[in-house]
Amino acid sequence: MKLIEIFKSLQGEGRDQGKTTVFIRLAGCNLNCSWCDTQHSHDEGAEIDNDEIIRQVDEYGCKEICITGGEPLLQASELRVLLSRLSRLGHSIEIETNGTIDFGPVQDNATICMDVKCPSSGEQSDLALLRKISSGDSVKFVVGDQKDCQYAAEVIQQHPIRGEIFFSPVAGSDYHGVACYVLDNNLPVRFQVQLHKIIGVR
Ligand code: SF4
Repeated sequence: MKLIEIFKSLQGEGRDQGKTTVFIRLAGCNLNCSWCDTQHSHDEGAEIDNDEIIRQVDEYGCKEICITGGEPLLQASELRVLLSRLSRLGHSIEIETNGTIDFGPVQDNATICMDVKCPSSGEQSDLALLRKISSGDSVKFVVGDQKDCQYAAEVIQQHPIRGEIFFSPVAGSDYHGVACYVLDNNLPVRFQVQLHKIIGVR
């Protein structure tokens, strides 16, 4: 498996925001979002086996795990084996995905956070995947402007989504404007800013 890094931090986004979490960042991404804040995840990464990943995770003594990227599902077959082992060890695992690759095969041992790409990213997710989101999963719209908010609102209206929905403004964008859009339109979402960037952790 190609790995960029393993580290412990506070989860800055999503359902587990604020929880101490071990992040496993896998290498490679199939998109190129305009505001990507993890460009280093596009690097080739270093080859690592599951035993070594589990050894490093164990050292942190933390049961919460977030598998992120890049796009972790580019390595789905190896990831399935890792997930099954981590799950048997009692870990609670979330996978952050950009919503372009079918996550069905990994849902047995992990919850999904599907990032739905909005127009300002310059990329697009596969909206058909939204029907695979279960009640334990979540969907995140990273919104950069009012046009993104409008797009996200239309997606929510057109696609029944069972999991929790987050609106997360792009770092440094108009937080107030996004918050007002949510309020003015009574959107069934949770507004959230990226906590890790505010408190200055990774
Ligand atoms: S999907 Fe994520 S890692 Fe890939 S380009 Fe977009 S923001 Fe960056």
